[in-house]
Amino acid sequence: MVATRFAPSPTGRLHLGHAYSAAMALKAARAAGGVMRLRIDDLDQGRSRPEHVEGIFEDLRWLGIGWDGEVLFESERSDEYASGLERLRERGLVYPCFCTRADIQEALAAPHGPGGAHYPGTCRGRPDDPARRAREAHSWRLDAGRALDVAGGLPTWREEGRLLRSGREDFDDVILARKDAPASYHLACVIDDAAQGVTLVVRGADLRASTPVQRLLQELLGLGEPDYLHHRLVTFEDGRRLAKRDLAPTLAAMREEGVDGRELAARLMDQSLPLGFRLTEPT
Ligand code: GLU
Repeated sequence: MVATRFAPSPTGRLHLGHAYSAAMALKAARAAGGVMRLRIDDLDQGRSRPEHVEGIFEDLRWLGIGWDGEVLFESERSDEYASGLERLRERGLVYPCFCTRADIQEALAAPHGPGGAHYPGTCRGRPDDPARRAREAHSWRLDAGRALDVAGGLPTWREEGRLLRSGREDFDDVILARKDAPASYHLACVIDDAAQGVTLVVRGADLRASTPVQRLLQELLGLGEPDYLHHRLVTFEDGRRLAKRDLAPTLAAMREEGVDGRELAARLMDQSLPLGFRLTEPT
């Protein structure tokens, strides 16, 4: 059975972009006679707020967008993330990293390629030093080179009927866990998508760059292979993003203005945006 999901972060009130994402996930689930799951990405305890979790429920109710099964809260799943990380650690696919942001900036002062700033690999290949680990704050990074070897090469994924291929430049020694957070977005996302039986990941095209490394983690952890649908992003008419700190109207504000949420959701499913907004393919 097809299962899609909507996975908002409760770090602010939802805006039109979130409503569009939820509408796309529900539409894809309905089209396949499947289900839609809801996950609350509240891993970042510094920025997540209970009132925003409540806000998500309120906004979805107003939109008439329901979900199937239980809501999954990432803040309650530290044990699952720790055991995922441990499995990677046992196979030598992650390493502790003691670099501060400043260390990384300094090492990156040399020019880097079009793929952006990759971690320079300062801590990779160091002999493990449990005493230092006990003493010093550190994160755990994926050894992407080794991981790709173990996985048998560059992962592929299915997106809207096409088979897409990742390139070596899509991979970095990304952080999978930190002292203050049991998992990074990538690790939590793949473990939870699998736990909720998600077979079709529907999300904004701004997250497309996350798919290669998430596919790699799925292969390494034996998590199965969902399909992907990266949808266009809602922007202002002039192409500006609806960043939370921007002046994008929240769904709560639209509700107060008397907008009909159900009607809005139905229009979004038909790719029809309110005046002043449009759908944009990020470059
Ligand atoms: N929580 C993420 C966000 O709100 C979405 C993660 C995902 O869909 O993979 O941007």
